[in-house]
Amino acid sequence: MEDPHKILKQYWGFDAFRPLQEDIIQSVLAGKDTMALLPTGGGKSLCYQVPAMCMEGITIVVSPLIALMNDQVQHLKRNGITAIAIHSEWRTKQLEIALDNMVSGAYKMVYVSPERLQSPGFISRMENTNVSMIAVDEAHCISQWGHDFRPPYRKIAELREIVGQDVPVMALTATATPQVVDDIQACLAFRKKNIFQKSFYRPKLTYSVYYTDDKYKHLVNIFNKMPGCGIVYARSRKRTHELADILNKNQIPALPYHAGMSPRERSENQDAWMKNRIRVMVATNAFGMGIDKPDVRLVIHLEAPPSPEEYFQEAGRGGRDGHQAWGVMLSAKGDIGILKRKHLAGIPTVEEVQTIYDQLNRYLGIAFGAGAGRPYAFDLFEFTRKHKIHEGKAHEAIKVMEREGILNLSDSFWEHSRLKILCSPTQLYSESLRNEKSATVIKSMLRMYEALHIDYRKIRESDLADRSGVGLFDVKQTLKQLHKKKLLSYQASTGKPAIIFTFGRVREKDLRINRQTYNVYTNARKDRVGAMIEYLEESRRCRAHTLLEYFGEKREEPCGLCDVCRKQQKEKTVSTEALLLWLKSNPPADLRAIAEKMNIARIEQLRKAVDELLLNNTVKRNEKGQIELQ
Ligand code: ADP
Ligand code: MG
Repeated sequence: MEDPHKILKQYWGFDAFRPLQEDIIQSVLAGKDTMALLPTGGGKSLCYQVPAMCMEGITIVVSPLIALMNDQVQHLKRNGITAIAIHSEWRTKQLEIALDNMVSGAYKMVYVSPERLQSPGFISRMENTNVSMIAVDEAHCISQWGHDFRPPYRKIAELREIVGQDVPVMALTATATPQVVDDIQACLAFRKKNIFQKSFYRPKLTYSVYYTDDKYKHLVNIFNKMPGCGIVYARSRKRTHELADILNKNQIPALPYHAGMSPRERSENQDAWMKNRIRVMVATNAFGMGIDKPDVRLVIHLEAPPSPEEYFQEAGRGGRDGHQAWGVMLSAKGDIGILKRKHLAGIPTVEEVQTIYDQLNRYLGIAFGAGAGRPYAFDLFEFTRKHKIHEGKAHEAIKVMEREGILNLSDSFWEHSRLKILCSPTQLYSESLRNEKSATVIKSMLRMYEALHIDYRKIRESDLADRSGVGLFDVKQTLKQLHKKKLLSYQASTGKPAIIFTFGRVREKDLRINRQTYNVYTNARKDRVGAMIEYLEESRRCRAHTLLEYFGEKREEPCGLCDVCRKQQKEKTVSTEALLLWLKSNPPADLRAIAEKMNIARIEQLRKAVDELLLNNTVKRNEKGQIELQ
């Protein structure tokens, strides 16, 4: 077995492990099932990537988001590690080839989505593959009590039976309550409980809640007063634009970010923020996963997310560099009512989910028995307007269907245009003789993309335009014409998410939803919203304490900087005894000096004690206005 330090240096160029990384790695190298609870940005990926390189055989990494998987695989490849991401975007043939390569040892690390994990093609291959470890990233997705439950995660334990029980499992997450931590280990069939947990405490990240009648004004004030870059979280796409406008008008450069924007716009805005060309990213919660900007000083929420887990994760994007940062929640009268309406009233009943399923099928024009396996471009807003459904409820219902494996909602499906050649090379050649422009496009297309006649490939029209020297518009026109002539199939990117049903349309009443699971899940959800409301309403406990306690951690020292701590410091008056004691061992001083030396925020806190001691003649004011003993 290779030495982890050597591997760390060799592939990543890092000299030392971060706290707990080494313990976690040693634990799994010793063959133990291992659970790692490290904050976001704590370096969880290396916890499985390093041992993967130390051991013989391949490491399977289960991960929920395609974008994250692709991102990691790219990073690994750049570091000279063979890796692949297997997910729903793969077409059958390519997938078969990739899986065969996997068996023959072409990859050291295989990222796989939980859905793909269950496919027969994958499972049958696993029997013949030498697996060194199974790593489960974002492991809270396995628990019904977790804030992002995904049923396919439940099947991971079955993989253990196939690859052998002695192959260790590593579970990683940033946010889990003690109950969820237990549940994760049980669901993954841990042979023995084994947790490495870094404290959730972030000494330099201060959480606060401020009540205000004018959130926008407050927001601008904060950015005017405080230096550094920030993230503002809003919970609607429209609002991200409004807020960015307001900030810009106040000379605070900002850009919006949400899942409704084109992928290109999103990555441009993200880039501008990462490179400090703008100060503030105004985003929905679509922003943040996998983003690692160390110097974020302010994370401001204009609306509370529906769980402390999400809040903690979002606010936790501040101060990764270890310097002081602020997590601020702006709250107004009525916010708690909104939170309840939005996240509790919006939870559909099982019957409502069935109805929405039916409406969805009608909306997409799917006949009974049909619709399985093909992508439908889908616009939630248009759908809910047409069928007069509460948007939040429809969104929820679709998420329920996704969890139940009824459909898949893919944000990225239409990000790329797709192309497949339907005709023979001779047909294509004779077509190219007709027109010079199409000849150039066809030639570049064949040069740039392989195996277009075998299956759909992702293409980029702009690349084709660059390569062929034909304008972008003409490239698209040419492809459309070839599509019309049925020489190729061209699916242009729509920028919309796609819905893919797992099975053909069934009758409303025949749509099966597991009621028991659903109830457990909904109740846990209600509890989380409740905990978030408690956080907003808390007026006596330090904010950090409140959050830490939710994650099962106790701390003695209050942070001293949050709104609650500050309020308490302000209210705290000095006792006559304390003042007298101080005066006895110090030379005469004026009120300001006393306050400063006694570490008291405001003179007013001294006033009462001073007045009392003056009245009962214990102290007097000397000619300099200083307080001294009688
Ligand atoms: P997490 O998954 O816990 O949120 P990541 O695995 O994405 O965090 O790591 C966050 C960042 O920390 C990455 O840029 C990674 O390269 C860096 N990092 C992790 N471990 C180390 C280390 N030992 N030394 C230096 N940088 C590290
Ligand atoms: Mg991670």
